[in-house]
Amino acid sequence: MEPRHARYPFLADARLAVEEAGVDLATVIREEDAVVERARERVSNAITERDVGGPAASDRIELLSYPVARVLVSLVDENVCTRYYAAAEADRAAERFREDFARADGRAVVDRAAVLREFDLDDEVHALADGGFEVGVAAYLRLASSLRGESWRLANRALDDGRVPVSEPDLDALLREAVEARVGEALPLSVPDEIGASLGETVQSVRETLSELDLTREIDTVVPDLFPPCMAHLLDAVRRGDHLPHHSRFALTAFLANVGLSTDEIVDLYEVNPGFGEDMTRYQTDHIQGETSPTEYTAPACATMKAYGDCVNPDALCEHINHPLSYYEVKLDDADEDELEDWREQNGGEEGDETDGSEDGSVGETDGSEDGSGDETDGSEDGSGDETDGSEDGSGDETDGSEDGETDEAEEADTEVAEGGEGVEKADAEVVDDEAASDGGDVQTDS
Ligand code: SF4
Repeated sequence: MEPRHARYPFLADARLAVEEAGVDLATVIREEDAVVERARERVSNAITERDVGGPAASDRIELLSYPVARVLVSLVDENVCTRYYAAAEADRAAERFREDFARADGRAVVDRAAVLREFDLDDEVHALADGGFEVGVAAYLRLASSLRGESWRLANRALDDGRVPVSEPDLDALLREAVEARVGEALPLSVPDEIGASLGETVQSVRETLSELDLTREIDTVVPDLFPPCMAHLLDAVRRGDHLPHHSRFALTAFLANVGLSTDEIVDLYEVNPGFGEDMTRYQTDHIQGETSPTEYTAPACATMKAYGDCVNPDALCEHINHPLSYYEVKLDDADEDELEDWREQNGGEEGDETDGSEDGSVGETDGSEDGSGDETDGSEDGSGDETDGSEDGSGDETDGSEDGETDEAEEADTEVAEGGEGVEKADAEVVDDEAASDGGDVQTDS
């Protein structure tokens, strides 16, 4: 077993290494608590933090925890759990691919060519002279099928002789999809009763984590007083007109999007800062919101915030959470609902609202559609304030129609994402998952 097996446990040779070491998974589960605990962490963190956590103290524990985590997910047997877990493993892998692909010191654990071979894509993907790639159309369709955003539609790609040109970040997004498919492959597994019995308490623990999570609830309440110290600090900086580094701007924008602010509202907020041009801010915000990118990004976890120096003034609650959104959720849960006043209501009230003229403070006011007339931008005027979903689900419409290949902007946005964030498909997936779960799910049964 080598470090790269622990780093990329879904690779075929990692599996081979486990087999060649003569590891009996049932014995490991029965006797090695550290492995089981790390597996539980992988799954639970995926549910609560959209991140698999870790790594473990040793490569062996880290590697073996991966197959045990897949067993655990199979025993929990909830579609939403499987989806979150596979997505979190894929996000972690994508993050590590980015690190390895960017290394020029010869110490990369894998390179892009090896990953392409791993997924039988080496004959399907060819480098182009301009730094981009072309992907065989069948492989492209397979990998891009679950990616959101108009730009992924084949009709919006310059198909040439059965090949689809893609940028380097696009190709890496496709590789992330390949990993997610690999992790979720054949789940739920058919698990022998003996193993099921050994993992009984751990399965129960994950089920409790699932039950505590209100998956249908998106945070859609904006109360800056309850923001975690880091985000409060960044928001103050924006309001003062300070220039924020890219990673800080990404973190704050993603956080604000995650708590329910629309692109327009974030752009409005950022206009306070003379360092932000509206077009660029709108482009970047749409990218983070998933309007013009395959992924709706979540704000960085505390570990990433700390690494970039964005963790400022952590307080006592910070010691018990590992994501700024978790901090905010706890604060919202602890607050008296009657005393919560949404920033958008306050803002509309104080400023007399120039856009819509409605004055009852409902969340949907900001886009001026509060008259039941069916509105212009998003069609989501249900009081949820959820413009993003309304504008892109199924309808195929394009609030983001401005997105047509402005390479510089795209590159800058991608750079920011690479600097600060882990992309996670979020809100829509939650709703779909819940529906699937309540329907009894549509997952496969055995491997
Ligand atoms: S610990 Fe997390 S939530 Fe608290 S200030 Fe730091 S980054 Fe923010």
